[in-house]
Amino acid sequence: MTVVYLSLGSNIGNREAYLRKAISALKTLPQTQVTQVSSFYETAAWGKTDQDDFLNLACQLETELDAQDLLSHCQKIEIDLNRVRHEHWGPRTIDIDILLYGQEVIATENLKVPHPYMTERGFVLVPLQEISPQLTLPNGRAVIDYLNQLDVSDVKVAKPFD
Ligand code: AMP
Repeated sequence: MTVVYLSLGSNIGNREAYLRKAISALKTLPQTQVTQVSSFYETAAWGKTDQDDFLNLACQLETELDAQDLLSHCQKIEIDLNRVRHEHWGPRTIDIDILLYGQEVIATENLKVPHPYMTERGFVLVPLQEISPQLTLPNGRAVIDYLNQLDVSDVKVAKPFD
């Protein structure tokens, strides 16, 4: 069993509904339990700023799936939720990123873990910190250390998940 952290985001349509549907779908994955879900956080769009604000959350899973299988399942959930990709960093109904897979470092062509941008993004680290305040990365550094170096004033807690 491996403890996994995911980041989920949406910035088109009923963002909260997409996030809730994605969590419901994660709960149906084989050999997997959703053990924690953060609050919803609202953040100004990152990378491209001429689009709607993002709604993000983080969740913790316990799974027997290997990392590649988990990625495939997450990508199927994205497709099922009708994600429309027009441009890099453009709007999306749902985006699911694998942040951490236990303390493993994975660098294959289609999967990089820890997620390469996670330490630069407040909208990823703030929800992650909420559900796992003591969490460290495989390099031994704590999430809180990275958070302390970021301006997270634009990451606003919107509401609890439940
Ligand atoms: P995105 O635009 O964030 O949805 O990127 C999707 C692409 O990133 C897919 O082709 C994945 O194979 C790749 N990818 C690499 N590392 C990860 C990761 N840790 N989590 C999710 N997707 C990843």
